Amino acid sequence: QHEEALAARSKDNLRSPICCILGHVDTGKTKLLDKIRQTNVQEGEAGGITQQIGATYFPVEALQKKTAVVNKDNSFNFNVPGLLVIDTPGHESFTNLRSRGSSLCNIAILVIDIMHGLEPQTLESMRLLRERKTPFIVALNKIDRLFGWSRIDNNGFEDSLALQKKSVQQEFRDRWNFVHTQLQEQGFNSELFYQNKNMARYVSVCPTSAHTGEGIPDMLKLIIKLTQERMTTNLMYLSEVECTVLEVKVIEGLGTTIDVVLSNGVLHEGDRIVLCGNPEPIATNIRALLTPAEMKELRVKSAYVHNKEVKAAMGIKIAADGLDTAIAGSRLLVVGKDDDEEDLMDEVMGDLEDLLSKISKTGRGVSVQASTLGSLEALLEFLRVSKIPVSAISIGPVFKRDVLRAGIMLEKAKEYAVMLCFDVKVDKEAKIYADEIGVKIFEADIIYHLFDKFTAHMKALEEQRKEDSKMLAVFPCVLNPVAVFNKKDPIVVGVDVIEGNLKLTTPIAAVKRNPVTGVKDIIHLGRVTSIERDHKQIQVCKKGQPSVAVKIEGPNQPLYGRHLEEKDILYSAISRQSIDTLKEFFRNDVSIDEWNLIKKLKKEFDVL
Ligand code: GDP
Repeated sequence: QHEEALAARSKDNLRSPICCILGHVDTGKTKLLDKIRQTNVQEGEAGGITQQIGATYFPVEALQKKTAVVNKDNSFNFNVPGLLVIDTPGHESFTNLRSRGSSLCNIAILVIDIMHGLEPQTLESMRLLRERKTPFIVALNKIDRLFGWSRIDNNGFEDSLALQKKSVQQEFRDRWNFVHTQLQEQGFNSELFYQNKNMARYVSVCPTSAHTGEGIPDMLKLIIKLTQERMTTNLMYLSEVECTVLEVKVIEGLGTTIDVVLSNGVLHEGDRIVLCGNPEPIATNIRALLTPAEMKELRVKSAYVHNKEVKAAMGIKIAADGLDTAIAGSRLLVVGKDDDEEDLMDEVMGDLEDLLSKISKTGRGVSVQASTLGSLEALLEFLRVSKIPVSAISIGPVFKRDVLRAGIMLEKAKEYAVMLCFDVKVDKEAKIYADEIGVKIFEADIIYHLFDKFTAHMKALEEQRKEDSKMLAVFPCVLNPVAVFNKKDPIVVGVDVIEGNLKLTTPIAAVKRNPVTGVKDIIHLGRVTSIERDHKQIQVCKKGQPSVAVKIEGPNQPLYGRHLEEKDILYSAISRQSIDTLKEFFRNDVSIDEWNLIKKLKKEFDVL
């Protein structure tokens, strides 16, 4: 074992760091990837750059060539064997490169369009990077769009900038200052890479153009520099298998396959593997370890090459039986000769269970559905910070059964009868069914858009409840009758408002005491349906204003002369519920005098 450990330290056992590219749509992520993949056609060199499944591998020789223009004196040392760059830009692959909540992405490039500054998905990416504690640099892209920019293809940035007209240099400074301030507002201190003295404290910003290639040598050098500074030596050696599923894909002739990133260790054909499935764990044998065939081999029938074994870091397609229910974002474990398969199954499923343990203990909350384990994890973390409770989670497309489950909330807590769906398809039938039973489905491919939709939904519900509660709210008043115009059905009385304000729809009652027993008797008259003065309808009669004629209607009205006398003082009929409603929805509409009056009325009506 000791020998093994020593062997593991040999030069052949170095592994390459993994790099992801993130940022807002249209900032140039894809173009930048294309540009750095581009081989030096003039020199007819591929330099060993290899296309893998979902990733591109750059051996150190290729990196040295690509950075030569900014390393003329060769003073920069490369200690890594190479760099694996993930081809699918965006946070989907980033969030799936995960292991027990930490990121397997060793370094990230956050792309910002110099003409636009920070955009919604930039913020989202920054949140993810911070959450997973991933070191990153900023590529401030599209510098060739600065007005009057004159290009020198694939040049180092400092040199290119120095050759620009004064006005171009000024525009660059202005735009960079703007982005610098924006980053500051998000809590990130940043510096242009060539002025950055402390990469642990300041984010390095590298201006680039994916069109002219300017700044790209700097960017690559910067990435290697940051990895070498931030990755410990241990991380650079090959050790136990660390592997995650990025995508689950059906391929003709192969069935369901998984595209994985092997970030550490070695995989062999025939290895017994365990991964997370929905709902059961999967244990199977690797039938084939596939990498893309090189384009020039025209005679190969298959688009893939079979490998006996592969070493990290590497993007590979795995063919095996039973992968249909595999979950993207799952860890992949290899069953060693001393391992218990059941234990490993429990371990991989633990990732899903960890997420389940994060949902609301009260059983009240929204339903959340995402495409992969990684994005589900990111979404849950976001909802936790946003204080939105979650009662159920699921991975994959939304079907009727998911809606059914979300529908449980219709009874428990109507406001949470909501499904927040991130980057998943919603089945047609499920949609129709949701409409039918009143479950809201919100879809988005930017996490915080779901938050916005949910917040708007809560606000609309609040408005609705306020509207509904109007009949429950009772503003306090005390009335002194001066005449009875109609004794019953409807009751019409002339009154003076001696306390508070009389409003339409207010329920009215008299409080009588039995002269013999002294027992209180509350006589409900009904609700105010009209207030009139000088034959004109008015909405409100305030304390001290001239008398009004009030019409009161309701079921089982008492009869003036029998149950009631003209001299009986009338009150707004308050209750515990009416007071609570005022407090919840109309707090700002109730004056201090009115609150004091409510206190008095509480005694009359024996409200606790
Ligand atoms: P993504 O959505 O971030 O992957 O962005 P793309 O790589 O698809 O680029 C979006 C658009 O911006 C495309 O029309 C690109 O040609 C353009 N673009 C990307 N990088 C640059 C650049 O450096 N300069 C200029 N002028 N245009 C760019």
